Amino acid sequence: MIAVRKLKIMVLCDDESKKNEQYKFLRDSQYAQYLGLNRAMSFLAKEYLSGDKERFKEAKKKLTNTCECYQNINFGTGIDSKSQITQKVKKDLQADIKNGLARGERSIRNYRRTFPLITRGRDLKFSYNGDEIIIKWVNKIYFKVLIGRKDKNYLELMHTLEKIINGEYKVCTSSIQIDKKLILNLTLEIPDKVKKEFQENRVLGVDLGIKFPAYACVSDNTYVRRSFGSIDEFLKVRIQFDKRRKRIQQQLQNVKGGKGRKDKLQALDRMRDCERKWVRNYNHALSKRIIDFAFRNKCGIIHLEKLEKDGFKNKLLRNWSYYELQDMIGYKAEREGIVVKYVEPAYTSQTCSKCGYVDRENRPSQEHFLCKECGFEINADHNAAINIARSNKVIVDK
Ligand SMILES: [Zn+2]
Repeated sequence: MIAVRKLKIMVLCDDESKKNEQYKFLRDSQYAQYLGLNRAMSFLAKEYLSGDKERFKEAKKKLTNTCECYQNINFGTGIDSKSQITQKVKKDLQADIKNGLARGERSIRNYRRTFPLITRGRDLKFSYNGDEIIIKWVNKIYFKVLIGRKDKNYLELMHTLEKIINGEYKVCTSSIQIDKKLILNLTLEIPDKVKKEFQENRVLGVDLGIKFPAYACVSDNTYVRRSFGSIDEFLKVRIQFDKRRKRIQQQLQNVKGGKGRKDKLQALDRMRDCERKWVRNYNHALSKRIIDFAFRNKCGIIHLEKLEKDGFKNKLLRNWSYYELQDMIGYKAEREGIVVKYVEPAYTSQTCSKCGYVDRENRPSQEHFLCKECGFEINADHNAAINIARSNKVIVDK
């Protein structure tokens, strides 16, 4: 889908005289484009109106950057005006022919002096500069985007700009209106949203566990399941952090006080932050993969066990946050239109997903499930995920 957004912009430059030069460059370029448009149109239309099809064909071929009609015009460096003009004039003439020029109901198009300056999409490079959004253009010119929080479509525009910066939206050939103020007519190619189709009543059950941080299974097709992450991966990083921490703590015992001690304590703080960040990123990655899995398998509902903020403590995983993971799955699902429901966590790991028999003895080991009643054998995490997916004990109060 092609969309156009109007953005107020201004030239960003501290040096006043340089800034004036840059505005002059914009106006001069616009003037050059105006000359170019009219000359190219005359060049082409004249041949069309001659009635000689061959000559018109020949003229269309000749209208390139080196065409005589562009001679002696000072086009701004770096803007690529000539190719933009050529493309536009050919397109416009074709449309005019169709709309009445051929029948004499219309005269040759005349471009106005104020016609916006056309610019290539790839010449508009958007980026963040603190809270501001700036655009790097040609000829070392930078623009600042002017939007205030009070603008009525502030959020929508910021959202759009973010998608441009992260590459989701492609900037196409756009134009700059040059008046007392500058307006960028930004043309964007927005990818069509994939239509969300969920299988009715299909649920993805997600078991949060130890060997795998998460194990997911589809309610009506229990063969479709997947584990996410692994404790080994997690412990490997944990051990590295522990080693570094011990080293600093030992060094700390050897320094009596003063600056050395302060530095070491700061290093410990930094490490704690670093580890925390690592866990957070890991949770981000896991939650994203879980949502993608639900999406691919058309699950419009996700079942999660309800965990308390400090619940699910395990010595091995002391700084692991299931609560955070659960939280991330929650808001990422919502963003994709998937409903998250919390189910009662009791007995999910002790219940046989085949016959429903509940017994602690059903689970001879952490990894293994074997039903005492019907003999059903399955991976324990898989069994729990099936129970969670099919659970009707939904906790309403989140
Ligand atoms: Zn059973």
